[in-house]
Amino acid sequence: MKRRAAFVDRDGTLNQMVYDADHGILDSPRRPNQVALAPHAASFLNGLRELGFVIIVVTNQPGLAKGTLTTPELDAVNARLAELLASDGSRWDELRYCPHHPDFGPACECRKPKPGLLLSAAADHGLDLARSWTIGDGLVDVGAARAAGTRSVLVTSLKLEVLERAIALDGCTPEVIAPDLSAALDIIRRERAGVSSPI
Ligand SMILES: [Mg+2]
Ligand SMILES: [Zn+2]
Repeated sequence: MKRRAAFVDRDGTLNQMVYDADHGILDSPRRPNQVALAPHAASFLNGLRELGFVIIVVTNQPGLAKGTLTTPELDAVNARLAELLASDGSRWDELRYCPHHPDFGPACECRKPKPGLLLSAAADHGLDLARSWTIGDGLVDVGAARAAGTRSVLVTSLKLEVLERAIALDGCTPEVIAPDLSAALDIIRRERAGVSSPI
């Protein structure tokens, strides 16, 4: 039987976003010393592994196209994230990234909400997309899940009215919402047990 995958977003899901005081925004970490795990990140991945999921991290890294991030910098951040997870006894199986941005080159098929990263992983590893899950903190993650045909959990602590406004603008309604990775794992575990989700 084909294996199930958990497609897990990186920034804002596995690791915390970094406050960029110069621009007043939350951004992805660009240096290893900026990497901090999100709460429950290691136990989340370990729980998914116990459930039999292949764990594939899927992340948009448009800084590569924009010239604000180099491949060695991205590799160093990924290595630091893997190191922090390893020190908590956890790991992913594979990490795939989109290096593109539509303002800095031709449109690609892998930038979430496009499903390219998920589809290529499914083709390479023979994954069952309909029984797989995508977990992320952005509506682009929900969009990629929908386009690839996986289940999805949006992990967010946004207030409902803020979330509803974002969803209305985006036109992409998440299947399930969880306040953190621990709750997301509980939802996936329950679904596997054949119990319907609370939302
Ligand atoms: Mg994210
Ligand atoms: Zn791409």
